[in-house]
Amino acid sequence: MIDTLLSLAAPHHCCGCNKVGSLLCPNCKYNIISESKNVCLACGRPSFGPGVCNTCKLPYSRAWCVGERKDVLQRLVGIYKFERTKSAYRDLAELLDDILPQLPIGTVIVPIPTVPAHIRERGYDHTLLLARRLGRIRKLPVAKLLVRSTNTMQRHATAATRGLQAKSAFKLVGNVDKNINYLIIDDVVTTGATVRYAAKALKDAGASQVWVAVLARQTLD
Ligand SMILES: [Zn+2]
Ligand SMILES: [Zn+2]
Repeated sequence: MIDTLLSLAAPHHCCGCNKVGSLLCPNCKYNIISESKNVCLACGRPSFGPGVCNTCKLPYSRAWCVGERKDVLQRLVGIYKFERTKSAYRDLAELLDDILPQLPIGTVIVPIPTVPAHIRERGYDHTLLLARRLGRIRKLPVAKLLVRSTNTMQRHATAATRGLQAKSAFKLVGNVDKNINYLIIDDVVTTGATVRYAAKALKDAGASQVWVAVLARQTLD
């Protein structure tokens, strides 16, 4: 409701071409989707299966990523995460919907829990909103099965500390059903440590199949 009122007051501009009307116009959306490549989410090397190469040992068996964190996708994710453009969750969820195949019936969507301080800063839980929107589009349940056991900020951490922080980052709340497929949702993957440990937490609790879907892959440089 408030979103609608705000968008009437100040119309959205496309993050790619600046066209008035939406945050992502159909053309720019098409460009993002058509550039989406099958690379290993953990190492960035080409993968033959979805998102997992033959070398990396990962607790998830399939992964999808909309694209690299650059250009239009970077701007769209950026305004969503850092400029409080809450309504971008719709466009971002549609991008995920576009790159994901048909998922097994009953697949449970599990958002990576957001650091509480970041929820307060933004005024919304960006990953949860994204997961719920995708759940509505795909008619799949969303369960907040993971909570953060530490609230350490990751934004300025080095690759090594990120790994260490992520290792102890999640606790499971609720039960895991080994007959159900789980799909972890995250916004940006950098080293891949976060989704790796989240998937491991679900596997350790008995999940037999864990998949991952993320918006963007950031290459560390
Ligand atoms: Zn555009
Ligand atoms: Zn790999």
